Amino acid sequence: MFDLIVRNANLPDGRQGIDIGLAGGKITAIEKSLPVSAGQEIDATGRLVSPPLCDPHFHMDATLSLGLPRMNTSGTLLEGIALWGELRPLLTKEALVERALRYCDLAVSQGLLFIRSHVDTSDPRLVTAEALVEVRERVAPYITLQLVAFPQDGYYRAADGETSLQRALDMGLDIVGGIPHFERTMDEGRRSLEALCRIAADRGLPVDIHCDETDDPLSRHIETLTAETVRFGLQGRVAGSHLTSMHSMDNYYVSKLIPLMAEAEINVIANPLINIMLQGRHDTYPKRRGMTRVPELMQAGLNVSFGQDCTMDPWYSMGSGDMLEVGHMAIHVAQMGGIEDKKKIFDALTVNSAKTMGLEGYGLEVGCNADLIILQAADVIEALRLKPTRLAVIKSGKIISKSAPRIGELFLDGRPASIDPGRDYVPAG
Ligand SMILES: [Zn+2]
Repeated sequence: MFDLIVRNANLPDGRQGIDIGLAGGKITAIEKSLPVSAGQEIDATGRLVSPPLCDPHFHMDATLSLGLPRMNTSGTLLEGIALWGELRPLLTKEALVERALRYCDLAVSQGLLFIRSHVDTSDPRLVTAEALVEVRERVAPYITLQLVAFPQDGYYRAADGETSLQRALDMGLDIVGGIPHFERTMDEGRRSLEALCRIAADRGLPVDIHCDETDDPLSRHIETLTAETVRFGLQGRVAGSHLTSMHSMDNYYVSKLIPLMAEAEINVIANPLINIMLQGRHDTYPKRRGMTRVPELMQAGLNVSFGQDCTMDPWYSMGSGDMLEVGHMAIHVAQMGGIEDKKKIFDALTVNSAKTMGLEGYGLEVGCNADLIILQAADVIEALRLKPTRLAVIKSGKIISKSAPRIGELFLDGRPASIDPGRDYVPAG
């Protein structure tokens, strides 16, 4: 009756000791003590079982290129852009495919099975798009990869920006991207959004814009993106990535802006690791954090999710394919340390991202796809605190990755022989 049963699971909503039955690639039962047996059973031993993690904002064409052709010595955004410009003419399809597949292996081991990647379309060779379309196909059995046509050097600012973006969409990229704050003028930025939303409406595609990734409080392209979303009837299909200028905007202006964004059903994607690393760079002290207004946007009913943006590339030398690391940083940067806050942060890494990405059959309910992860932690709050080992990753009812639990062995007189950080250090009260 079941292909696989995961027994004794703690669910993200707080239910404990639950059995989850999987059959035919779907979740077909969620209840206490399923009486039947299955071809295969896993005892989750009271650990958290969650739907897989999602990353709605990544750059898979740049990942794992750290050190090519040289290191970013200043660690700044501008040197990162310069470095990417040096590397881009040297990119080959083979190397791009190899790095992306290797990154996807890491992602699977971290329980990250849904990724939206921007793909730089600035080089008219479009070797990036060619490579990532192949990767999307090759990883499809285990990772859902969405590809955004992203004019990194500007839709208008780059010589071939307009035609290259259209050609990349013709090659099968899924989503229309843009970077209005990087166009030559505010007005060109505004016009780029109008053109990009029109392309999305004509082609029936979603939109995901690198929008206002700056500390300039007058960078107000999100206002235009919101208006164009409504004008073209794209409600719910548009994502504003970064939105860091909102951090620095005038409060009165924001009090008008946020309800308009909610009306247009803008999906907000913050990138806490990159935002805290790259924003506020022109400040002395005090230094702004730069991340967009996450709690206020959530409060207003907007769908807020978090992306990783980078792992080991010209912009960011850190990263490990771990979305819980992203959530951990979000808690700190947004100062969302309360219990309900942390639950919202976990949602931002899972169900909210799934909504942003328009995933079908995602979730932990009967009828959803049989995609699950088992973590070495008791609940979502502990998962965010510990960034624990993903003990098992299940895709379409099959185990596709396993990791041994992290157990520390101790050799201390009068102290325990071993510790399990996910079990021995839970809250006392
Ligand atoms: Zn990005």
